[in-house]
Order: sequence, then structure tokens, then C-alpha cells
Amino acid sequence: MDKQSTQLVSCMYQYSRAIYRSIKDLIDPYAAPDQQIEFKRSVLDACEQTMVRLATDPHYFAKPDRALFQDIRRYYPITVQAQVGWAVEKGVNAAGEFIQKQIEAGALDGGIARCKATTRKGKACQRTPLPERDYCPSHQHLERAKVAA
Ligand SMILES: [Zn+2]
Repeated sequence: MDKQSTQLVSCMYQYSRAIYRSIKDLIDPYAAPDQQIEFKRSVLDACEQTMVRLATDPHYFAKPDRALFQDIRRYYPITVQAQVGWAVEKGVNAAGEFIQKQIEAGALDGGIARCKATTRKGKACQRTPLPERDYCPSHQHLERAKVAA
């Protein structure tokens, strides 16, 4: 991963941790203890997925705060959902503004670049390409093939 992407991803994880910290103690207090741990893990996962998607797909991710809230609201009692919604909105918007600034500064061209290869399962490769290349280390032979053609 190039330095810029690495920095960006670590910033996104900081935003994700901040959102998680602001809402983790509001999780349903009447759920069983092991269930609460599971809920917290799901909330953290959802926060991270939202941040990664914001970083990799900023132009096509509409209403990321609403999407995250929809994903996690079931882990919270109705009485705190407004508070959770507000914390999520604030945290996701801060991350979104950060990404927007990176785009305006030219640091990103439509999000973190992704390898142009298709995996054996027919899905787009999610890995970051080598600096100034179109393909990741495991697909770099495709680039050579392209140059040769
Ligand atoms: Zn690849």
C-alpha cells in the first residue's frame, strides 16, 4: 500500500474508533452479558465497514450516516436511539468531511485506488495497487501482459 493510502486508512480507523467509543456504552443494558459483547463487536464492525467504504468509494456512498445507523439501531433500546443517531451522524460527517478535503487536495482520485484485476471468484480485487500501477502485487503480471500487448 502506498504511504497516502496507509495514512488515510489509519485515519479512517481512528474515526471509526471514535464513533464506537461514543456509542458502545449505550448498548441494550437488558441483553445478556455475552450478547452485549456480541452486539459491541457488531457495532464496531459496522463502524469500520462504513469508514472503509467511505474511504474506498466516497462518490457512490449516499447517506453513510443513515446507512450505519440502520445497521446498528437494533442493538440499542428505543430510549437512546436518538442519541445514537446523533453520535453516528456527527462522527460519520466528520469522517466524510475529512475524505472530502483529501479529494479536494487531490490526494485521492475517487477514493483509494483498487487493483483492476478480477479474482478467480469473479469479483473485483479489493487490494491496493502498487504505487503508480494499476494492479496489486499478486496481479502485477497482468500489467506486464498489458504492456506487452
Ligand atoms: Zn489484485
